[in-house]
Amino acid sequence: MSDTPLRVLLVEDSPLDAELVSIGLADEGFHFTLTRVETEAEYRAQLAGHPDIVLSDWRLPRFSGLAALNILRETGLRLPFVIVSGSIGEEMAVDALHAGADDYVLKDRLARLGAAVRRALADHRQRAERARADAELRLAATVFESIGEGLMVTDPSGTILAVNRAFEEITGYSEAEAIGGNPRMLKSGRHDAAFYRLMWTTINATGRWRGELWNRRKNGGVYPEWLTVNVVKGPDDKVLHYVAVFRDVGDVKQAQAQIDYLAHHDALTGLPNRILLHDRIDQALRRARAEATPVAVLILDLDSFGAVNDALGPALGDEMLWEVGRRIGEQLGSRDSVARLGSDEFAVVLDDPAQVVSVARALQERVAAPVELDERQVVVTGSIGISLFPDDASDAGQLISHAETALRQAKTQGRESIGFFEAGLARAFEERLALESLLRGAAGRGELIVQYQPQISLANGTLIGAEALVRWRHPELGVVPPAVFVPLAEEIGVIGDIGAWVLRAACRQVASWDAAGFHLPHVAVNLSAQQLDRPDLADSVRAVLLDVGLAPERLALELTESVAMRGTVEAAAALSALREIGVGLAMDDFGTGQSWWDQLRRIPLDCVKIDISFVAAIGTDKASEEAIRAMVVFARNLGLQTVAEGVEQQSQAEFLREAGCDVGQGYLFDRPLYPDDLLAAYRHGAVGRGTGKR
Ligand code: C2E
Ligand code: CA
Ligand code: CA
Repeated sequence: MSDTPLRVLLVEDSPLDAELVSIGLADEGFHFTLTRVETEAEYRAQLAGHPDIVLSDWRLPRFSGLAALNILRETGLRLPFVIVSGSIGEEMAVDALHAGADDYVLKDRLARLGAAVRRALADHRQRAERARADAELRLAATVFESIGEGLMVTDPSGTILAVNRAFEEITGYSEAEAIGGNPRMLKSGRHDAAFYRLMWTTINATGRWRGELWNRRKNGGVYPEWLTVNVVKGPDDKVLHYVAVFRDVGDVKQAQAQIDYLAHHDALTGLPNRILLHDRIDQALRRARAEATPVAVLILDLDSFGAVNDALGPALGDEMLWEVGRRIGEQLGSRDSVARLGSDEFAVVLDDPAQVVSVARALQERVAAPVELDERQVVVTGSIGISLFPDDASDAGQLISHAETALRQAKTQGRESIGFFEAGLARAFEERLALESLLRGAAGRGELIVQYQPQISLANGTLIGAEALVRWRHPELGVVPPAVFVPLAEEIGVIGDIGAWVLRAACRQVASWDAAGFHLPHVAVNLSAQQLDRPDLADSVRAVLLDVGLAPERLALELTESVAMRGTVEAAAALSALREIGVGLAMDDFGTGQSWWDQLRRIPLDCVKIDISFVAAIGTDKASEEAIRAMVVFARNLGLQTVAEGVEQQSQAEFLREAGCDVGQGYLFDRPLYPDDLLAAYRHGAVGRGTGKR
């Protein structure tokens, strides 16, 4: 018996009889509490507290067993109800049982009370359980029918016991056709015996299997379904049923396939994209490793397609790209894959790289054949970069990136070039790229500085000026020499900004020295070709001088031959405009050009700087010495000053002075100096070192 006492509600007017019932229950070993009521009101009040059982007299002065039964029924409570009565006729007994009493016990046979109570309680418990099970079954049946997923229940041997409406809809078999049949009728033939064997092993081992499966409908159509099979076991752990729940995932799969396709293909050409190319290369590499064969990755980029696209307009440009993609695809074997990487970049994976050059040439020829667009014949050409497995890289990502590097290298050779990846070149390329991006912001970040190299009169050793030389002091790279970054700055088009910055810095420096009482007669600033091409060069130089408050004759601009001899109208106009302002013009690296005497006549100069190579050869090379003498004579005849660069030795200075050269610049006198150092060395009118006069 359970620990919680049985709560007995006794409808009885006689306390003595109540005592007898109590004793009778106790004798039978019941653990109970007993509440006695004798009126309807008391009875109703106690019922509300949900007793476990009602024992009731049949006839009471103010109440009755029948009334008690009726009240119980009307409240909806289902409680065991046993009549305990002094006398009850057969008719009354029938009435009582009919009205819902579970049993009756005569007061003079109270010995039977225990058994009657026990049975009534047990009956009730069973009835309650059955009712709950019924309700669950009804619920299950509703669910079974209404869910959108197909359901199939089989017995342990696999015979179909039940299916639902969704089963009928998905498979096309009616309930009548399915029941008694075997799920084999749904087999699509797309899975082998091992597949089903594994499925059943899993079900029997874990009680469940989940996965995707192809089945066949009654009409023969095959469809994919997402299936869950569960085992239902009895209390003895024996399999009672298998329950299969499945969903037709054909639509989902189709959508997935579509998304998958879009994610792996280029929308314009329908060719595989970069992602899929990766996969294809991976596949090719797996095969190549297994067979110990090489693989080549080619990247073809159309030459100046930007311009073609601009000329054609975007719609025809797209058509052009589509056509190029088609041609590349046609040109290749079925084992080779083609992809489109970027706007006008295509990639090819070759299984047989022995032919790589001829394939690349053939591709270029095919691409370069005229395309008729909108009644026009349009021709585009392509350059190709190539990387090889296993020589250059061992994974897809690196092969692609190396082929791209090779392509960039190839492109520097002009149109329709082909380039193979070379590690050394690649490194130089990467370094250059890194440097490029750093250099772009250098001026803005305050990383540029200017040093000034004194220029000394060879006649009397006095300081007559200084050349401004820019340096790039990068926090990590250290001081980058201009010989490295100036050409790069020219190439990427930032030399104009750098040059303008140096010009202003130099002019400001001279002006601030002026203000501090130190007079540097002039400063020379180097000018690059791109600066000369700017139509507003003279104006901006004038603006700087005005702004800083420096007289034009205090500034000299140094040009190289290649800059001065460009012969463009713009350059010539810029040079005369500069002369008009009154700034000096010096020819840098003089003597190295093709026809220096020609330069002297054609360009409005006022100074030439004899190149360092002539100065270095003094004392060892008679021809250079002759050249220096000739240059000085020519220059003097034209009224130009001469400056010798790179003077390192006293003997060189002597020779130059004797030859009539006016000014010397070089390590003999000073290296390029920071402004403070220059000021410290020359503020008290000190003359240059190496002249013997300092
Ligand atoms: P450059 O105009 O011919 O400048 C002279 C170079 O010779 C400087 O090199 C200078 O430091 C170096 N030099 C001076 N004396 C001697 C010497 O006695 N012996 C030797 N071996 N070398 C000496 P730096 O400063 O490295 O400049 C190299 C080049 O960079 C310059 O050649 C010039 O073409 C360019 N550059 C420098 N600053 C600027 C600038 O602000 N703008 C432009 N566009 N180019 C610049
Ligand atoms: Ca110079
Ligand atoms: Ca020079």
